[in-house]
Amino acid sequence: MGCPGSGKGTQTARLLKHFGSSFGLQATQVFSSGDCLREHINRKTALGKQVEGLLEKGELVPDSVINPMIWDKVERLVKAPEKSFLLDGFPRTVDQAKTLDSQLHEYGKPINFVIDLDVPHSVILQRIEDRWIHAPSGRIYSLSFNPPKVAGKDDVTGEPLTKRPDDNADVFANRLQKYAEATKPLIEYYRNQGVLFQFKGATSDEITPLIIQALSAFLQNKKVAVKSKY
Ligand code: AMP
Repeated sequence: MGCPGSGKGTQTARLLKHFGSSFGLQATQVFSSGDCLREHINRKTALGKQVEGLLEKGELVPDSVINPMIWDKVERLVKAPEKSFLLDGFPRTVDQAKTLDSQLHEYGKPINFVIDLDVPHSVILQRIEDRWIHAPSGRIYSLSFNPPKVAGKDDVTGEPLTKRPDDNADVFANRLQKYAEATKPLIEYYRNQGVLFQFKGATSDEITPLIIQALSAFLQNKKVAVKSKY
C-alpha cells in the first residue's frame, strides 16, 4: 500500500529480486493490479475499454469490476502449495480487502504482511513527473534515480518508453484524493488485524533496506514456526 507514486512498483521489483534468491519468490508469484489493467487497455479487451477512462482520470475501478478480475489471477498464485505471493496495488478499498480475505480464508493463506509506504507528497509529485515506463513489461524508469541506458528506450527490448496517461499534476491531485477517501481506511483495517508494517522515507532507496530487514525477520520466524510444528 501507499499513495500513487509512493514507489509500490519499484519496491515490488526490488523485493522480487532480493527474495527471489533467499526465499525463492518468482516473478509469477507477484501480481500488480495496475499492470494487469494497463495490459487490458493495451490489448484493447472489453475490460480494457471499460476501464481506460477511469485510469486516465485517476479514478478507482469499481470493486464489482476489479474483484473478479483479480481473483481470476490471484487464485492461481494462492493454489500453488508452499508458495508465498506478493500483491502490488490490491486491495485498495476495505470492500476489496474483505472479499479477498474471505477468498483466501478458504485456502488457509491469509494476508500476513502488509507494507504501507509513507512518502511526502512533494517528493511524489517530482517522481511522477520523472517517471517513464515500458508499457508491455511494466518496467519503470525514473529520469532522476534510474534512467534508461539509452534516453527514451527500454533497456531490455530497446522499445520506446511512454508516460502513463495518469502521470500528470492534475490527475495526480485526483488520485491522491481518491487514495485518501478510499484506501486510507484500509490502514486501520490491517492495523486491527495486526499485519500492518509502515515504512517512512523520502526515497525508495531509503525505504528498501527497512522493508527487507522487517520482511526477512518475519519470513525467518515463519520458517521456524512452520518447522517446529513437525
Ligand atoms: P497503479 O499502477 O497501482 O498506480 O494503478 C493505476 C490505476 O489503476 C489506479 O489509479 C486505478 O485507476 C487503477 N487500479 C489499480 N489497482 C486498483 C484497485 N485495486 N482498485 C481499483 N482501481 C485500481
